[in-house]
Amino acid sequence: MILPIVAYGDAVLKKKAKEIEKDYPKLDELIENMYETMYGAYGVGLAAPQIGLPIRLFLVDTEPFSEDEDLSEADREQMKNFKKTFINAQILEEEGDEWAFNEGCLSIPDVREDVFRKPKIKIQYQDENFETHVEEYDGLIARVIQHEYDHIEGILFTDKLSSFKKRLIKGKLTNISKGKIKIDYKMRFPAMSRKR
Ligand SMILES: [Zn+2]
Repeated sequence: MILPIVAYGDAVLKKKAKEIEKDYPKLDELIENMYETMYGAYGVGLAAPQIGLPIRLFLVDTEPFSEDEDLSEADREQMKNFKKTFINAQILEEEGDEWAFNEGCLSIPDVREDVFRKPKIKIQYQDENFETHVEEYDGLIARVIQHEYDHIEGILFTDKLSSFKKRLIKGKLTNISKGKIKIDYKMRFPAMSRKR
């Protein structure tokens, strides 16, 4: 089932998400629905707060990047087969010199900006069976994980921009939160769902 993606401006996107236990209700179904939602919107990652749940769960499938002509052959090859569900993730280490990459977000359609992040991460997480893993990633895969991880920390990529850039996109962000935007996937807008 495709779930509506929460748009910029909703308070759930600013909340630090909570850990979950193995008995979290209908977790398998939730994960399945999140994959369907992500694929339906042609995203490479989706975090639970983006579908309205403040829990530490996100998924990544970088396959769409394998078609990206701007990337190197090696990068594209690596992107082809990276699909993973991260539960209760904690980034343990981030290192290296920050590099810029043009990021976008399903909750902030039509806004793309260069974001600086460190290239290497070490992350601890649990998989769908609640087995704990500690893994290291770099490059574009690390980048996608860092973006999704920020979501469960209540951080959006727009928070990481300079105050000058923030001012430039302010109007666009206001329009998104009001639903004044054309999109080809299902979204939920804060201004419209507000109860009187
Ligand atoms: Zn995002």
